[in-house]
Amino acid sequence: MSTKYIFITGGVVSGLGKGIAAASIGALLEARGFKVTLQKFDPYINVDPGTMSPFQHGEVFVTDDGAEADLDLGHYERFTSMRASRKNNYTTGRVYLKVIEKERRGDYLGKTVQVIPHITDEIKKCIKEVSEGTDVDVVIIEIGGTVGDIESLPFLEAIRQFRQEAGRGNALNVHVTLVPYIKASEELKTKPTQHSVQKLREIGIQPDILLCRSERTIPEEMKKKIGLFCNVEEESVIPAYDVDYIYQVPLAFAREGLDEILLDKLHLPHEEIGSLTKWEEIVRKMRHPEDEVRIGFVGKYVDFGDSYKSLNEALVHGGIANNVKVRIVYIDSESLEEEGYHGELASVDGILVGPGFGSRGVEGKLRAIRFAREKRIPFFGICLGMQCATIEFARNMVGMVGANSTEFDDEAPYKVIYKLRDLIGVDALGGTMRLGKYPCNLKEGSLAREAYGVGFVEERHRHRYEVNPEYIPQLEERGFHVTGISPDGKFVEIIELEGHPWFLGCQFHPEYKSRPSAPHPLFRAFIAAARGHKASSKTTVQLAQPAEELTA
Ligand code: GLN
Repeated sequence: MSTKYIFITGGVVSGLGKGIAAASIGALLEARGFKVTLQKFDPYINVDPGTMSPFQHGEVFVTDDGAEADLDLGHYERFTSMRASRKNNYTTGRVYLKVIEKERRGDYLGKTVQVIPHITDEIKKCIKEVSEGTDVDVVIIEIGGTVGDIESLPFLEAIRQFRQEAGRGNALNVHVTLVPYIKASEELKTKPTQHSVQKLREIGIQPDILLCRSERTIPEEMKKKIGLFCNVEEESVIPAYDVDYIYQVPLAFAREGLDEILLDKLHLPHEEIGSLTKWEEIVRKMRHPEDEVRIGFVGKYVDFGDSYKSLNEALVHGGIANNVKVRIVYIDSESLEEEGYHGELASVDGILVGPGFGSRGVEGKLRAIRFAREKRIPFFGICLGMQCATIEFARNMVGMVGANSTEFDDEAPYKVIYKLRDLIGVDALGGTMRLGKYPCNLKEGSLAREAYGVGFVEERHRHRYEVNPEYIPQLEERGFHVTGISPDGKFVEIIELEGHPWFLGCQFHPEYKSRPSAPHPLFRAFIAAARGHKASSKTTVQLAQPAEELTA
């Protein structure tokens, strides 16, 4: 069987959830027994989103092979069993970079290098390469942006050509549009969808399937009308309504018969539907939790959920694993810098300090960590959160006054976190971190070892700073333990505190590998500890006393 291709485009407005739609289509095809991979093209000029503010772009997702990628790749991995690599995400900038590098090498033999055919050929090559040498049956390609944008034109032209070359039955286009509800006239409107399909047809692409996002039921009559004006069979006009949980989307699409239509149009055999029960079970658990735990999420970008997308989802997965609803209480780290103010910290069942860059809000994070340590509230520190836990312990338990990370204070008397040895002298910002999958050995008897159930794991990283091994003996002496370490002994990967019910920090990002059907062990264990904390009588305990101040 030749590889099949599904192209996903978007019209009318951005933010229609194209990524989740693409991922859900992947889930449906997997349930039918097909092997899928998903690929995203982003029309912006940045070579990758690594240098972009999470405020603007949302989370930077990291792949095993160390690509800094669009957050939609996170959805792809959570909804399907694919593991993304740098081949699964391209930006305009990266495509141009490849072409310009070839031009500089003289590969084009004196030709004028142009958008058509050189850029479009490069895009087509990227599409082919993503499944080359694999047994993938269907490649799902999402084109970022909205049809009609100048910057997405080369991608649309490339997929027009690709479809033409692949032939009928081997490639199709799913166009995601919006059918808005106008309150004043109490009507759903089809015109934006018509216009967006017109735009697509101007470029030479006739959509095969329309996914119509709508907050209201689209009547049969209206589906007929959309089909007629957009030249799409009525049965291929699929309503995509808002749902309570994103993991319902594959089920909602299946109810509308989308999987059957895809198989028909791609001339694929209608294998018996298999594991949709997996999604039903996930949704059932989310709908009927036994209890609720409140997790205080301390961070800098707390006002923008997309900047911590995978983390939010991993917490939800931890809840699914423990039959509880996880209510995330966002706590702005800067607000905690006010003396004596603990905000909602006192009322949560677990505290999480997440990844971050730059010094803003760090003192607030340190106060949150101290609170979690002293009040024996389950604490989970991820990347910067783990580095902050190290600083807090050094300052308040070892007496290292002014201990800090050199990211925040180059002159700190105790540089407990310092720049990765391999990065000394590197000043560029893009792609210059310790990125991607690295191995880690877990210490016998540790919380981490207990959670994972194995002694060796591989997790994804994205950092420039690390624990300075020079101070480990002093930290360990006071009950701060390194329980996860790289096999070469160079990198501290996990730290835990003696005498605390659940206090764990990791240098890597476990959230990237969590799935609703396979919640990450550390999130599962953290939520279990939070549940335990909630249930316990919260008796007062004897706190460890800080040591005398040291002189640097
Ligand atoms: N800023 C820290 C570093 O570069 C932490 C990074 C992170 O949290 N992803 O090491």
